[in-house]
Formats: sequence, C-alpha cells, structure tokens
Amino acid sequence: MFPEDRLSEYKKKRDFRVTSEPSGDSISSGSQIFVVQKHYARSLHYDLRLEVNGTLKSWAVPKGPSTNPKDKRLAIETEDHPLEYANFEGVIPEGQYGAGTVIVWDAGYYRNITEKDGQRVPLEDALENGHIAIWLEGRKLKGGYALTRTARGWILVKMKDELADASRDILKAEPRSVLSGRTVEEMSAR
Ligand code: MN
Repeated sequence: MFPEDRLSEYKKKRDFRVTSEPSGDSISSGSQIFVVQKHYARSLHYDLRLEVNGTLKSWAVPKGPSTNPKDKRLAIETEDHPLEYANFEGVIPEGQYGAGTVIVWDAGYYRNITEKDGQRVPLEDALENGHIAIWLEGRKLKGGYALTRTARGWILVKMKDELADASRDILKAEPRSVLSGRTVEEMSAR
C-alpha cells in the first residue's frame, strides 16, 4: 500500500485550513525515526510514533513511557500519521480532532531488534504478529523497548538492559520539549 492511502483516516479527521498540523505530503526520511509527543488533549497522554515504510505507526500511551522494566504501559494503537508530524508541536484548535497542545517530548532513531527462535523478524511481520522489540536512540529514551499486543491493547515495556533505570521517573524529571525547550503548559500559554 502507498503511504498516501494509509493516511486517508488521518486526513479525513482534520481540516488543514484550520489546523497547523502537517497535511501528509510526506517524503522519505531515509532512516527510521521515532518520536514521543506529549499531548495535552481531553486527557494527557504520550503519542509514540515509529517510522515504518514512509509513515508514522502510532500509539497513544496514557501513562507515558517508563525506564523501569516493571512498568507495563498500555499503548492504544491510533491511525498512521505522516512523517512530517514528527516535527509538529503547537496548539491544535478547539473543535479539531485531538484539540489541545502538543510538544515533541522525545525524538531520535530506532532499530528493529525483534527476534524469534534466534532469527531477526522484519518489523512489518513483527507488527502483524503483535510483538516488536526496538532499540531506541532518543534524547531521553534509550535502549530496548518491547510492544506486545493483548486483548486490551498493546503493552509497552522497557526491556531489561544496562539502560533500564527503576529509580527514576523520566516523565517528571524531563518534562520539556526536545525541540523548543518548552513544557506543554508553556506551549499552551503561548
Ligand atoms: Mn494524541
């Protein structure tokens, strides 16, 4: 499927004459990026997005990512977003889908480390199978993370590696945008 087709739901929900969010005329970025956007909408959540074949595969994580392998964070799959969305922060106007404030809480690159029986599993297959393991090289999030599909939704967990840290609440410790340095509250008040 072409990326444009995979964005039809994204486009249907938005009026690009009103919102400053990207319209989805995406170009390939050449490497696999990930982003976590802190989104203060009706309720606060964090949107995890992974570049997969020209669009951003997306999950809404109500409690946000953790660096503690004991934390299991629900991640609700949402519609694919255009690649340019990775750079979006600002205010989505009242009455628009997802109305509220967005900051780019973390950004960087990732690689697929999913394996089954000692064999590397391509990301698209892993997503279809409902289990992916990724290595994040973000400004804040680093190391292995696993996403597993369950009956209730996906579950995001930090994998046990040297970059796991059970002693720290990264959401509280590092609340600012990696793009603008603003908190979501400062962005709202702009
Ligand atoms: Mn959101």
